[in-house]
Amino acid sequence: MDFMGFSPAVNVALVGLLGLLIGSFLNVVIYRLPKMMERQWADECAELAGKEPEPAEKFNLMVPRSRCASCGHVIAWHENIPVLSYLWLRGKCGACATPYSLRYPLVEMATGTLFAFCAWRWGLSLTTLVWCGFSAALVALAMIDWDTTLLPDDITLPLLWAGLVAAALQWNPNVNLPTALWGAVAGYLSLWSVYWAFKLVTGKEGMGYGDFKLFAALGAWFGWPALVPIILMASVIGAIIGIGMKFSSGLREGGYIPFGPFLAGAGFTALVFGPQSILHFIGL
Ligand SMILES: [Zn+2]
Repeated sequence: MDFMGFSPAVNVALVGLLGLLIGSFLNVVIYRLPKMMERQWADECAELAGKEPEPAEKFNLMVPRSRCASCGHVIAWHENIPVLSYLWLRGKCGACATPYSLRYPLVEMATGTLFAFCAWRWGLSLTTLVWCGFSAALVALAMIDWDTTLLPDDITLPLLWAGLVAAALQWNPNVNLPTALWGAVAGYLSLWSVYWAFKLVTGKEGMGYGDFKLFAALGAWFGWPALVPIILMASVIGAIIGIGMKFSSGLREGGYIPFGPFLAGAGFTALVFGPQSILHFIGL
């Protein structure tokens, strides 16, 4: 479908640019959403203890403006252009020259590439729209889980519902509604069972409830037949990165590696190459 009348290449470029902008916003989400959750928990704890929550400055995804964490310099609009500003400022704060993490432009480029891929695959269509939304949610979840070992319900649950709605409206050509619905149910219950079996046998918690919800969401987007390939792919990616980190002694305290980034990695692979292709990658 091509209702804007642009050539396919222009569509891909425009949607890719939109992806860069969304990626820039995702950097804010990745940084601020865990802090917003922390504040909320602190307020709820204070309330339960019968204390007044501490008054704090407004802090959400829009307010306050982004600042340099080192010198407090407010980032101007021209210092906030995805990727270009990073290159122009050579990856440093414009005021105090503290280096910024390379991951900001990388998150922008990854999101832009995924958006461009969707536009190349499905044109300017509702299918592209929903898969761009899927990609953005997965980028944010992967990074937040990597940083904090949390997969916020504020992202996993809407992602799960959106998958079911996209299937019901037939905007997602991968699945029909029953395939998506049973994908979500089986995704949740399978990891939930593994969690309890592992806990009963070893007394430890191998993953968190966020992983069940993310896997359920992937089931809703790719359908139940994709669940086994996706979990295999996630385990392979996890094992490779885990071994790599062990050898580079990059493991954090307790040796815990969150599983969400690998589930997300498997989700991206399924999006780009198709869920069944994962079986070929790992030689099955
Ligand atoms: Zn600075």
